[in-house]
Amino acid sequence: MKPYGYRYGNNGRNRLHRNMGILKRFRLILALLLVFIIVWLIYNEKTGGSMDEFFSESPNSFSVIISSIIKEPVLTIDIDGKKYKIEALKDSSELPDSASVKLGAGKNSVMQLIFEKEPETVSTMLYLNDKRVLSTPGQIIRSEELSGDGEYKGVVEAGWENGDSTVYPFTLVVDLPPSLSVSAKEIDPGELLVIRIDNINDDEEIAVTTDLGFQPNAFKYGNQHIILLPVSYNNPSGKVYQIKISLGDREYSYPLTLNDKEFITQYMTIDTKVAASTRNEQSAKEIDDKINPLKPLSDPEPYWEGNFIMPVEGGRVSEKDFGKRRYVNNSPTSYRHNGLDIGHDKGEPVMASNSGRVLLADFLIETGNTVIIEHGFGLKTWYYHMDELNVKTGDWVKKGDVIGKVGSTGFSTGPHLHFSASVNDVWINPITLINDGVPLFMPE
Ligand SMILES: [Zn+2]
Repeated sequence: MKPYGYRYGNNGRNRLHRNMGILKRFRLILALLLVFIIVWLIYNEKTGGSMDEFFSESPNSFSVIISSIIKEPVLTIDIDGKKYKIEALKDSSELPDSASVKLGAGKNSVMQLIFEKEPETVSTMLYLNDKRVLSTPGQIIRSEELSGDGEYKGVVEAGWENGDSTVYPFTLVVDLPPSLSVSAKEIDPGELLVIRIDNINDDEEIAVTTDLGFQPNAFKYGNQHIILLPVSYNNPSGKVYQIKISLGDREYSYPLTLNDKEFITQYMTIDTKVAASTRNEQSAKEIDDKINPLKPLSDPEPYWEGNFIMPVEGGRVSEKDFGKRRYVNNSPTSYRHNGLDIGHDKGEPVMASNSGRVLLADFLIETGNTVIIEHGFGLKTWYYHMDELNVKTGDWVKKGDVIGKVGSTGFSTGPHLHFSASVNDVWINPITLINDGVPLFMPE
């Protein structure tokens, strides 16, 4: 690069003019030398120091000279009006572990590359944990394009017409404010509400309180936290409930309208001997001992994938089964029917509705051959009255695996599968899990 302000000789000028110029320049040099000697003498007089010290006390003059000979065009990254100057990398063979310039970005941040000299080609790459997460030829990057909070390593490669290319490294610290998504504003009794929190920092605590009679947990999954909030059919409908969520020192409040939903009443008769032998003190104690302790278990990982499936193919299903009230042999019962009764022939295969861990595979007096599967985050499916079991407690199952066969064991009037779903001890509508899966959340 040519130094600015220097002109090559003027060939058209005459010799006299040139001599005059030399004389003038000689006088000027002489005057400067004189000034310099005087300054040196005064300095020595005052401090008694040497010329070396004189220079070492003003090192700034050197760095100014050095920076003025760097020829790489300066790159400025503008984030939301804040400007960061990025130094070009001298040796582009290796990127430094952390670049000296740390840039901050938040929600709706716009990052713009401004070059001192407009390049012909630009390529910006961002890495998170050594994985490339973004590669773009554009000069504008929006925070929506990033996968979330984190310290990204960035590099801009710019190329100019003359074949020169320059590499600019930087570190981009992204701290997006948390965002909350709630799957519904109004809901039917017995359905599942999902709350998703994105980009909360590790040091911020999540607390959820509701007047729905259930204390949910927040489960971490990548950059997200998932809260499964089952809305029990035991909550009075036609009113508005409050969900309060605190994230660190921020408070959020969501009203949830619980719709009126008609639940049918079923009158059934069952052989009094069967009723007496399957619903008694002993069966109640068995449920207390073997089933109830499993209800609050909630694995911190999601095992399910996609929508749930109907566990018996081609069975007779009535959507009204879930949550209905029952009269057994003309006496009202205090409980609601917590699932679906899927009618089919004895011996038909029963499949796991989704992947998970078998919490229990056992024969119980009231529910017959029983399987309970934990799908993660406390989401469970329940299978009763089977003729035989194909799994044992502790097994891992995949969606569609055969876990047993349709039967009529326990408190049952004929071959059918009783199929329920719950979050911990609150029953939820299994039809919705089959049709819609778990809203707002898709485990990988
Ligand atoms: Zn049933």
